[in-house]
Amino acid sequence: MSELRFDVVGAEGPKRYFEGLTQQRLGHAYLFTGPAGVGKKTFARALAQSLLCLAPKDALLGYDGTCASCLLFGGENARHPDFLEHRGVLRIGDPDARAGFYESEQLSARDLIHQFSMQSYSGGMRVLVLGDVAFATHEAANALLKFLEEPPRGVLMLLTTATPARLLSTIRSRLVEIRFPLLSKAQVREVLGGMKYASQESDLAASLSGGSVARALATLQSEEESLRAQVVRWFFDSVAGKSPQDSWATRETLEDGLETIKTLVRDWIVASGGDGIALVSLDQAERLRRLQPLDPRAAVALLGKLDDAQRLARTNVSPNLVGEFVRMALTGSP
Ligand SMILES: [Zn+2]
Repeated sequence: MSELRFDVVGAEGPKRYFEGLTQQRLGHAYLFTGPAGVGKKTFARALAQSLLCLAPKDALLGYDGTCASCLLFGGENARHPDFLEHRGVLRIGDPDARAGFYESEQLSARDLIHQFSMQSYSGGMRVLVLGDVAFATHEAANALLKFLEEPPRGVLMLLTTATPARLLSTIRSRLVEIRFPLLSKAQVREVLGGMKYASQESDLAASLSGGSVARALATLQSEEESLRAQVVRWFFDSVAGKSPQDSWATRETLEDGLETIKTLVRDWIVASGGDGIALVSLDQAERLRRLQPLDPRAAVALLGKLDDAQRLARTNVSPNLVGEFVRMALTGSP
């Protein structure tokens, strides 16, 4: 028997779940939930490769990486005819959608039904992976419901989403939900290492990642100034009582920006204690240690205000106003 592997970092719970299943007990449709960037799609792809791998095996998870089927999973652009993956936001049933599964960002309900009804090329299973699904029409939702009610033989559907609450409850209730937790810092570093990032870069990005590879990669992007760099400058200006030159806060950036500020404030508190606990924002350690130390009462009040800001960010309050609220909290204005 050849050596089998399953190259997914983290995801211990999902691994245990699928390791405990046999081919016969495998369901027809699973919903992978969890924060963005923790490996839901990577897992879905590796599960598909395991199911389609031709090597003899007892377990559900694992592939040899060398058989004729595995060769079609090589690299980023898997082209196994029985494995279909849709990347990007999926708007099933959008009347403007073009036909085709790989070529188009959009997939119509008719495409979906067509994909479900096709026979396997290799005589085995067919696996469909659908990324974040947004149903544009009832027709689309109905197509999926029909699949879930009368699943065709040999088809496995894997849906992934970071926002399961946005799925129709009639659909969600028919899927087996598998939760993916945040990765540890060491696991994010391991994933980045596999992508050939230098170890120093990986260390910083992993410590800022909050357990998400997507967030780690965002901090590694250097083409334009990252959101984090803007927020860091704004933070130190605000704390120094200077009026920041520009605001970073928009509807899109608010959540991540506030998270960055929270990390900086926690580091500021740690630096104020001076008891040698490692900071998360390694690259800002010098500047944080030079700040006026925060006394414990002020620290608690500031963290409370940041919680308030995060709650405000989920309402219709303007992002600029939320930013201003945080700036005032940082300068200690009442
Ligand atoms: Zn194989």
